[in-house]
Amino acid sequence: MYRGFLRGFQTSGKFQGNGKTTFFRILNETANARMKGGLNVSKVYTWDQLFSRRQFLKGTVATAALGATAGIGLLEPEASMGLSNSPPQSPAKGVKYVTTICEQCVWRCGVIAKVENGVIKTLEGNPNHPNNLGKLCPRGNAGIEAMYSPDRIKFPLIRAGARGSGLWRKASWDEALSYTAEQMNKIKDKYGAKAMMFNSTDNLSQPFFESLLKAYGTPNYGTQRSLCFNSMTTGFLYTYGTPQPGTDYSHCKYMIFTGRNLAEGISNNETQEMIDMVARGVKVVVLDPRFSKTASKATEWLPVRPGADSAFFLAMINVIVAEKLYDKGFVEKYTQGFADLVTEVQEYTPEWAEKKCEISATTIQRIARDFAAAAPAAIAHPNWRTSNFVNSFQTERAIAVLNALVGNWAQPGGLIPDQEMSTAKLGVLSHPPFPLAQGIRLDGVPWKYPMVPLAYGVIQTMRDNILTGKPYEAKGWLISRQNPVLSIPERQKTINALMKLDFVVVIDIQASDTAYYADVILPESYYLERYDGLVPIKNKIFIRQPVIEPLYDTKSSLMIYKELAEKLGLGEFLPYKDELDLLSRQIKPFPVSLEKLKSDGHYEVENFKEDHSKDFEFQTSSGKIEISSSIMAQMNKKAVPTWNEPPRPEVDHYYLLTGKTAQHTQMFTQNNRWLLEVFPVNRAWLHTSVANKIGVKTEDDVVLESEVGKITIKAYVTEGIRPDCIFMVGGFGHVSKGLKSAYGLGASDSALHKTVTDPISGGSSLSETFVTVSKA
Ligand code: SF4
Repeated sequence: MYRGFLRGFQTSGKFQGNGKTTFFRILNETANARMKGGLNVSKVYTWDQLFSRRQFLKGTVATAALGATAGIGLLEPEASMGLSNSPPQSPAKGVKYVTTICEQCVWRCGVIAKVENGVIKTLEGNPNHPNNLGKLCPRGNAGIEAMYSPDRIKFPLIRAGARGSGLWRKASWDEALSYTAEQMNKIKDKYGAKAMMFNSTDNLSQPFFESLLKAYGTPNYGTQRSLCFNSMTTGFLYTYGTPQPGTDYSHCKYMIFTGRNLAEGISNNETQEMIDMVARGVKVVVLDPRFSKTASKATEWLPVRPGADSAFFLAMINVIVAEKLYDKGFVEKYTQGFADLVTEVQEYTPEWAEKKCEISATTIQRIARDFAAAAPAAIAHPNWRTSNFVNSFQTERAIAVLNALVGNWAQPGGLIPDQEMSTAKLGVLSHPPFPLAQGIRLDGVPWKYPMVPLAYGVIQTMRDNILTGKPYEAKGWLISRQNPVLSIPERQKTINALMKLDFVVVIDIQASDTAYYADVILPESYYLERYDGLVPIKNKIFIRQPVIEPLYDTKSSLMIYKELAEKLGLGEFLPYKDELDLLSRQIKPFPVSLEKLKSDGHYEVENFKEDHSKDFEFQTSSGKIEISSSIMAQMNKKAVPTWNEPPRPEVDHYYLLTGKTAQHTQMFTQNNRWLLEVFPVNRAWLHTSVANKIGVKTEDDVVLESEVGKITIKAYVTEGIRPDCIFMVGGFGHVSKGLKSAYGLGASDSALHKTVTDPISGGSSLSETFVTVSKA
């Protein structure tokens, strides 16, 4: 009964609704595109001229008719329209199945693609893959649309008008990479390597991106983690010495979520495990100001006041300590600082917390007692970002400590230590030592944010410092698979920052909002057309491999990074000939050929023994779980979890909450027409009382205004949100005209969000933005 709750969350690759009809329409359009003929490489084109669907349709009746009747033969390579440097190829005949790894989000699920006469017909979940256990989510299923989208960038582009004007010219790969390298070397020679910033995060080829930026010598590496879960990773890092422990759903008897909406922010196997847990009758408590889909599946929904979840957890600790419900043996053996905690939480009684978080004292008491009784098979989930306030680091510390008190570490139904020791080790490529990066980082790590790990960074501060020119001027930005224009608060500031730079190069499969403001776009092959680095998960090694040959003149990021490194004179730092050479060397320690790995889709290491010997070796200063953090103490900060009062909105202002939907991935999939069929636009959730007050009903336009911006968006009137909150799904409101289906749809939260940063974790405190609402 729980399996069908996510629309489109299914084992079949056939998408629900009229997806099949859409699929053939897309195939026809793609085929028609090929009839357009060659482009003059020296001529300037608008985006519409480069990738016009209307022009695709001209003179293509015969081909379209053929496609509609035969459904095959439509996907000849781009060379047939004179746009490719690749030699002409013929699609392979017959049916084949290829195993690969999804990239419609960062979760890396196993996929089996069915290919018929060179056309990808279906994507199915790989039952052998632990990340998805045979199922694909809606976004994974819709990968076929992304593959055949007419909005793919089909060849390298160089800007030919003012930045952001949408005027481009076609370039060969040699020209585009040479020009990029020339601009990057010019910046390095004149201003030093530090003037060039590099951005990418969480993808299979990221280690090679990091090799490129380290070889170049810049300290400025941006990820997007500070926009997501910096408070969680730093909170757990400074408590357990590990940033992100796992959770054993299958044995858990009591789960508390706050800021983790697994039913809509899908992490495939975790979402399935959560639903199975609910089906088993496990007690699931969800703290969320909104009645999310996860809340709808929980046994108890607590509409907590935004920013005050911290009070709830501190009061739980108060009850567990006062009533001696903690695991005394575990606390004595594995933790430090318990006595300081006892003193700190004395004042955080359930009655005190009730006034802060607006959850009754009796409810807090009951949950604390029941949670402790279920321990160690009880988890306060580490979540992703709790409620997104400046105090979220302290909230995460309280959650981390609550788990420690009930002794659930490495216990069935509790937190799972990082399993690095129990994961197969790939072969590595040797290269010369990287040069020492010169200069401090523009994102303030560590000189402004001493507790933020270098690998996470604080991207919103990097953006701000491009604008201020302090502590030095940035000149160039290389961005791979990211879209800072829509992800960082205060969208206009990010556009201004891009406009200020001397040179911007973007690697992407589509014209993201950031690509639209670039000087060069290097088109990456879609995941179904390319290799990436191998992925070990415990005793299994998985491969992402091409399901079909690239349709267009695109390259894998592995080759883009390598060829760019060569043009920069840094080729020795990415020492592989091509993707297969790299993969062969990664798989070398194991008795399996690359051919066998490709045909099976994964390799299972024989006689692999999991190593749990280090489960209780905590990588903290004390070697123990730090209830009282040594590093916080050294920094003269409160070393035990504590309360920081979050701001409240003024009269007639509302908390602005943002979150995910199951049908889209951040700001990446809104141009996908299959997904738009099931989730066409974002809307502002208003409580009925608020809607009545301003006289609006569902589908009316409303204006939301914050200190930094204003948007118009459709209303969704509901009882399922606190009256002091307004919620919207992020990722809509694209400004790139290259995203023809998404352009103009909905509105962007990045136009409203203020830039507020937690000085400890570097996390972006998105929910500290308050808005007014009025009828449009
Ligand atoms: Fe693909 Fe969905 Fe898995 Fe993400 S969760 S990798 S989109 S199937």
